[in-house]
Amino acid sequence: MPPETPLQRLRRLEAEDAARGAKAPGGARAGKTLAAGGGVALALAKGKFALMFLFGQFKFIFLAFKLLPFLGTVFTMILSARLYASLYGASLAWGLVMLILVHELGHGAVARRLGLRVGAPIFIPFFGAAISLKSMPRSAHDHAVIAYGGPLAGTAASLVCAAIGLLSHERYWLALAHTGFFLNLFNLIPVEPLDGGRVASGFSPRSWIIGAVLLAGMFFVTHAPQLLLIAGLALFSGFRRRATLGPMAPMTDEEKSLWTVRYFGLCFVLGAAMYFSHRLLDPAA
Ligand SMILES: [Zn+2]
Repeated sequence: MPPETPLQRLRRLEAEDAARGAKAPGGARAGKTLAAGGGVALALAKGKFALMFLFGQFKFIFLAFKLLPFLGTVFTMILSARLYASLYGASLAWGLVMLILVHELGHGAVARRLGLRVGAPIFIPFFGAAISLKSMPRSAHDHAVIAYGGPLAGTAASLVCAAIGLLSHERYWLALAHTGFFLNLFNLIPVEPLDGGRVASGFSPRSWIIGAVLLAGMFFVTHAPQLLLIAGLALFSGFRRRATLGPMAPMTDEEKSLWTVRYFGLCFVLGAAMYFSHRLLDPAA
């Protein structure tokens, strides 16, 4: 007799089992059904548990995806604050990060009011932060509104810090305000991707030349590597603008004069605020 294959052995055992089951009294068969039922119940329970487990995981993953942008914000914010803290001390670093957050939320709030979808802000240490637009503005005016919302909110927050500093006579608040004025004024340099470039390009297509001169001058004085990065991004956004922002409706003449006033008005307020906060911090200067 040839040796049994595993499949043949299984079939033979099944057949033997079936024959025994047919001869066995009802009790035994009931027991077996019950056992089988138990197995099914166990399998079902296992399946249900597995499903619940999976569902739980999905819920967790889903939640994680919903929270991910905020986790990204919090994580990059803490990272930025810790890196700034190594230079300016923890309290100024956290104040700075909060001012940057207000600036970014300013962009986000106006973009959302225009019906655009925005991402959560992501902090880039020693560079600031950025908020991504998930849909593009329809006109140069809307583009300017979104760009202007950041420096406007940042200026308001810095003015609040200055007011606290004036009332409490604490240098910390004045120093924070001064830094906030500087950061928001810097962002108004008329070169994309800086906010100023997005506003000024609407009323003056050649404004970027002034921005480029300002960036070059600042680099000449400070040698800050961030300025090179901004210059690189400016070149990149110059090329990209033709492709993505082409169909954007240009500003009307009325909008152009409105944005010229708004742009230079905010630049003037920030310049004056920087000057006065500097005088208060360093009366000898
Ligand atoms: Zn901005």
